[in-house]
Amino acid sequence: MSNAYDVIINGASVAGCTAALLYARQGARVALLERRSDMDAHKVLCTHYIQASAYAVMAETGLDKVLEKAGALPNTAHYWTRWGWIKPPHDGDSAHGYSVRRATLDPLLRRLAADTEGVDLKLGHAVNELLFEDGRVVGVAGTAGEEAFSLRARLVVGADGKESTVARLAGTPAEMAENGRFSYFAYFRGLPRQAGDAARVYYLEPDNAYVMPMEDDVTVIAAIVSKQRLGEFKADLEGAYLNFIRSLPEAPDIDSAERISKIIGTVNYPLISREPSGSGYALIGDAALASDPLAAVGCAWAMQSAQWLVSESAAAVTGGGEGLDAALESYSVRHGAETGPHHHLIADYAAARPFNEIEEFSFSAAARDPLMAAHFHSFGSRLMTVEEFLSPEVVAHMERVNGHGLSEEVLRQLTGEDVTGTGDEAAENEYAGATR
Ligand SMILES: Cc1cc2nc3c(=O)[nH]c(=O)nc-3n(C[C@H](O)[C@H](O)[C@H](O)COP(=O)(O)OP(=O)(O)OC[C@H]3O[C@@H](n4cnc5c(N)ncnc54)[C@H](O)[C@@H]3O)c2cc1C
Repeated sequence: MSNAYDVIINGASVAGCTAALLYARQGARVALLERRSDMDAHKVLCTHYIQASAYAVMAETGLDKVLEKAGALPNTAHYWTRWGWIKPPHDGDSAHGYSVRRATLDPLLRRLAADTEGVDLKLGHAVNELLFEDGRVVGVAGTAGEEAFSLRARLVVGADGKESTVARLAGTPAEMAENGRFSYFAYFRGLPRQAGDAARVYYLEPDNAYVMPMEDDVTVIAAIVSKQRLGEFKADLEGAYLNFIRSLPEAPDIDSAERISKIIGTVNYPLISREPSGSGYALIGDAALASDPLAAVGCAWAMQSAQWLVSESAAAVTGGGEGLDAALESYSVRHGAETGPHHHLIADYAAARPFNEIEEFSFSAAARDPLMAAHFHSFGSRLMTVEEFLSPEVVAHMERVNGHGLSEEVLRQLTGEDVTGTGDEAAENEYAGATR
């Protein structure tokens, strides 16, 4: 039984490696555990568009430079809607994230973490037990090959993905939201680029599609389709996927490109959120919140939640543990404030329903007006809050652009006349819900 660490992080993927590096830079001794034994292991089920909201943390860790050197593309996107394309004006100074395959990203990020002084990366270590003292998590136990191991630390971090072992063993309840779509994607090399390096995102109501250029002249193309069409895809995956892509408006010319992968996908991907901390432990990345892949927020929020946790708790972790409970509580509050309203809207749209009135209003305005296009893209890049996205000034501008306003009922909900100003938490939640 070793007590040589301040923090144990379970899972050496996007969230875990980011947290390990940031904690260690604050002077913490970190055990970074990963059940897979290959340094180059990567997550397969991901289309790896990293939103601009994570740019600051990538710059802080130095991952931005590492990715650029590896050919990752600074990203932006154009969005197809029934009102036409939303094309955010783009210049070299625009905020961006990166588009980069996980086969490139994961090993680079893992090495960056492992090379940081204070990080002890332990590959091939699978955690299957939490150690408790007086109801508090004080360590982990598991197996490394044939060997059993156990470790203790002030804080245990679950960075172990959607099915988080740490969350399950800690008994953290999970809130689920149904996903009304399934997704399949494949990789192509040499696909003619129709919008430069910009991704193309299709809102086909209720289906969606992505065409996302990556490094090495590779493009990932995803079909994110209402479950009502699942039978069609199950009967003939290859045919249904290719037909779906070929029938997109201004479809990518897949027949002139080389397909370099199988068609990869998942037919059932419910959204999961959990309370991000408890006694002696915290959850980051998908372990805390696995939102809809359609929104492409998972990698960014994995990095950002790591950064929120470290900024709230590093001093307590390295300073003997004093104030750790309050720090974990602050992290939970911050996590909820940063992701909650966004996830609420994402989860609602995951039902694969038709656009609601606010979506019609904002998407049509963004298709008609460059200012609103930039605003829309910033919101999708999670660079602003839901309140900023639908501020009274913005709604007034959209009204001018569209030549009509919102219905009385929706306006009342947005301006909060019937739900805000009470200081009551339930009413605040209702306000976020009112934008549906
Ligand atoms: C179809 C699809 C498309 C997506 N596309 C995008 C996209 O375009 N952009 C985007 O930002 N996000 C996307 N995502 C989401 C993204 O993949 C995740 O949000 C992201 O990988 C979360 O990172 P993480 O580090 O929290 O967890 P993970 O990447 O899942 O890593 C968890 C790690 O923990 C390890 N682990 C688990 N259990 C244990 C254990 N008991 N002991 C030791 N180690 C353990 C695992 O081996 C793994 O390395 C997509 C997801 C799907 C399903």
